Amino acid sequence: MRGLMQDWPLLIHRVIDYAALQHPHRAVISRSVEGPMHRSTYSDVKQRALKLAQRLHKDGVKPGDRIATLAWNTARHLESWYGITGIGAIYHTLNPRLFEDQLVYIANHAGDRMIFLDLSFVALAEKLSPQLPLIERYVIFTDAAHMPQTTLKNAIAYEDYINEVDGDFRWLDFDENTAAGMCYTSGTTGHPKGVVYSHRSNLLHAMSVMMPDSLCLSSRDSVMPVVPLFHANSWSLAFSAPMAGATLVMPGAKLDGESVFNIIENENVTVTAAVPTVWLGLLNYLETSGKVLTKLKRVAIGGSACPRAVTEAFEQKYGVEVIHAWGMTEMSPIGSYSTLKPEVADLKGTALYDLKQKQGFAPFTVEMKITDDDENILPWDGKTFGRLKVRGPAVSKAYFGLDENILDAEGYFDTGDVATIDVNGYMNITDRAKDVIKSGGEWISSIDLENIAVGHPDVAEAAVIGIAHPKWDERPLLIIVCKKDRHPSKDDILAFMQGKIAKWWMPDDVVFVDDIPHTATGKISKKTLRDSFKDFRFS
Ligand code: AMP
Repeated sequence: MRGLMQDWPLLIHRVIDYAALQHPHRAVISRSVEGPMHRSTYSDVKQRALKLAQRLHKDGVKPGDRIATLAWNTARHLESWYGITGIGAIYHTLNPRLFEDQLVYIANHAGDRMIFLDLSFVALAEKLSPQLPLIERYVIFTDAAHMPQTTLKNAIAYEDYINEVDGDFRWLDFDENTAAGMCYTSGTTGHPKGVVYSHRSNLLHAMSVMMPDSLCLSSRDSVMPVVPLFHANSWSLAFSAPMAGATLVMPGAKLDGESVFNIIENENVTVTAAVPTVWLGLLNYLETSGKVLTKLKRVAIGGSACPRAVTEAFEQKYGVEVIHAWGMTEMSPIGSYSTLKPEVADLKGTALYDLKQKQGFAPFTVEMKITDDDENILPWDGKTFGRLKVRGPAVSKAYFGLDENILDAEGYFDTGDVATIDVNGYMNITDRAKDVIKSGGEWISSIDLENIAVGHPDVAEAAVIGIAHPKWDERPLLIIVCKKDRHPSKDDILAFMQGKIAKWWMPDDVVFVDDIPHTATGKISKKTLRDSFKDFRFS
């Protein structure tokens, strides 16, 4: 017997319809690329998204067509996602921080028909356009007054583009499993791979992000995704914030510590999310300026391991709750949150921050297991580490245009991470499988060493890589960027780490550098570091 409930496909446009109906006047605030702050509402976003949908429809954009975006987090970028998906077409985010040849590969591989882009990226697009034969038109997220002279094919200002129609349009209807969005993984080896989200997966994931033990979003919050729309769906906030009826604050192109601080304070942001580097920048600004956060309640930190010092500074100095989160592009992207179950809610001091170092437990819709190399399931004892595998309605089952099977016999996807899970379900990433340091047959977690080193008061950023060793196979090398005008010695750093790790985990050497390279999604680029230090030998 089948249930007798209505068919109500989980389609993305229902989110903006809901926000416009129940929270019509809720503010959507953006730092525009042109400069000034821009204020609108969910009602405006819906009306303008409908116009875009109508305009794309008129241009012959069909369900399944890919429309690329190359843009910062702004209201225009947000409404373009709703407009594109509202006719069954697919938004495809291009990460401007990728290498140019990767961008060309990605746009061509995805078969993008149009690119919507910010003024900041016109020069980049002009450079790439000769290699993008499939692009029929470039729409620049600006108005006629700011429209630059450009050689881009059929270029038009976004405001002119959508004003060619009247907005008298209805969203199209289609199956909830229809593709909605595409995002390519950063791909540290080989070509980037296309992850394809569906309407259903995006909505289910957004609901799981709103839940109290996740980011706990409500209409009383003011949510600022610092994490870009082009980085794994901006961790769902483009969907979950309107779904919650929360005020949405889009930070535009300025992501330095001072700009992030100002927008948080001026716009009363209560919840925000980004990778650790952004928060290191903000905390550094607070430290040097003497300013304090007065509005922020929660900050989600993920994308790479959140250093303990960052969690402690937010919570102890500024009273901001840190939610350490883990996930990946293939998971829509969030797979766990370090919020407190009753079993651990009474932890205090060191024990609390030990727990918060972990990446947390999976919400409903994410199933996790750890296995050994022979697929045997490993115990949840907080000690045994294995390959972390996941399953759920917002987890990839294949990559775009690739024929390879990426699931195990039970339908789990191998994340490429190595982790432990404790008795309460809290997962802790030891490392990326390829970054873990293999020393004398045992594993050393580069993440743990980095976290401890960053706790030193003179250290701004730290990275650990394995260096070939004749006896031990590999030994850890600690690479450090110091805070401004601080000059700790190697011995200072190692003395600080003593007692915090097993003796045999101690880095064999420490080198000081001006900069640590990052990937296009803000992670420490271990591959670049390994290349730079390939001839390094311990003396
Ligand atoms: P991406 O698809 O670019 O978001 O990268 C996903 C990968 O980032 C994961 O497989 C992890 O290796 C890493 N990652 C994400 N969040 C965390 C975290 N909180 N701690 C440690 N590693 C993380």
